[in-house]
Amino acid sequence: MRRIALFALCCGLLAPSSRAEEAKGLSEAAFDYVGGATLSMFYHELGHALIDTMDLPLYGPEEDAADTLAAVMSHMIWNEDGARRNMRAFAQSWLASAAESEVGPEDYADAHALDLQRHYRQVCLFYGASPETRADFAEEFALPPARAETCEEEYDQADRSWGELLRERGEVEGERLVWSGPTEDPIAALLAQEVEDVNEVFSQAEEISVQIEACEEPNAFYKPEEKTIVICREFVEYLTGQAEEMGF
Ligand SMILES: [Zn+2]
Repeated sequence: MRRIALFALCCGLLAPSSRAEEAKGLSEAAFDYVGGATLSMFYHELGHALIDTMDLPLYGPEEDAADTLAAVMSHMIWNEDGARRNMRAFAQSWLASAAESEVGPEDYADAHALDLQRHYRQVCLFYGASPETRADFAEEFALPPARAETCEEEYDQADRSWGELLRERGEVEGERLVWSGPTEDPIAALLAQEVEDVNEVFSQAEEISVQIEACEEPNAFYKPEEKTIVICREFVEYLTGQAEEMGF
């Protein structure tokens, strides 16, 4: 299994007792869902930030590349339980989002792939990163066998791009992610800790600010002019609502 250099210092899954303690009001399952999906979205936005600050060339849609980083980050820097938590939550969130909305012309025209496509792509990449140990994950999300056949190759391609970049950045000194904001709520605390943990794993080309703030829509952004990743408070609330509907 691929690990980058400083894995041992980074991103171990919080012990169940401390997770429950931190969750304060969210059930453990809800915290896993909201936290895992939020971290995965943070990795997606970090993909946009890396593309911008490192002026990375793209050979396909940027949104797809950013999604790919989410799978690579979870696979590379988390232990298996933590990686599965993040990727299960991310996959579930795309399924839930797809179930909530009817697909129309604007969705087909959007820069993002359709929710269900994003769902299957994440499942495929995560399964493909370790097909010998994650057949159950592919089965849990009913990944069609025809797609499953190519997932190992798809992850290898992701490892040759994002994986290689992260390994290189793990070897050099540079700038850092900087959390700016309060940490009193459990998801903000999780993100703030993640910022520190990512800094232990690889450096940035430019300082990038990370924050949770109200933005009047359930979304997340990277603002290139401010070198800032924003996770909207409404996005966390939206995920919390989904968790309730899922019975977590
Ligand atoms: Zn994006």
